Amino acid sequence: MKVNNWIKNIRSLLYPNGCLLCSAPGNFDRQFCPACYRSLPFNRQACPRCALPLPPATPSDALCGSCIRKQPVFDSCVTALCYEPPVSRLISGLKFHQQLHLIEPLARLFTDRLGEPVRKPDLMLPIPLHPLRLRERGFNQSLELGRVVARRYGLAIDWQICRRVHHTRAQTGLNEKARQKNLRHAFDVNGDIYGSHLVLFDDVITTGSTITELSKTLKRAGAKQIDVWALARTPGR
Ligand SMILES: [Zn+2]
Ligand SMILES: [Zn+2]
Repeated sequence: MKVNNWIKNIRSLLYPNGCLLCSAPGNFDRQFCPACYRSLPFNRQACPRCALPLPPATPSDALCGSCIRKQPVFDSCVTALCYEPPVSRLISGLKFHQQLHLIEPLARLFTDRLGEPVRKPDLMLPIPLHPLRLRERGFNQSLELGRVVARRYGLAIDWQICRRVHHTRAQTGLNEKARQKNLRHAFDVNGDIYGSHLVLFDDVITTGSTITELSKTLKRAGAKQIDVWALARTPGR
């Protein structure tokens, strides 16, 4: 009983505002009250190759038009949520305002969405930040979110095999072609991944140019299968 009270006290110190979205008081299992949890924009109906949200009646194995025309370099993609309010606000809070207490609840939204992986990858590689940006921010959000997810599934995680070797311009405001050019040769692979089944973990997928470029580099280095997991995806291309 005493221990339980202790845990409760610690939790209420850590999460004094209850629900992360509406501040309803309470120690909610996932730090979202049931109503807010239900209203989260989970990206359940989506293209299995690129995670583009698709209309509700689409069969679960149907690819989007873009993937039918040209299959992505990576083999599959799952994102937990659509990048729109209130998810975008939470992710910005984590990335730009160091709200590190959001790591655990956000990562749990990913494992809620995925459930059990159909085939367990050999290794998780979080999308690396360039060392300069890492110094600026103090942490790599993809690594911190990925750590929680990897722990949940018992996956090995490595943040040194892939490095970002070019300090690319911020991608915001660039169109897809410019993004691809901006990212060319942005990554370096330093480790033996020949024949392995990898999963890349990213926080937000926008146009997919980062995961495309990194997947190309990893496939050139001999990766056999590349799955992509991300917390959120922008709804359009
Ligand atoms: Zn709420
Ligand atoms: Zn697709």
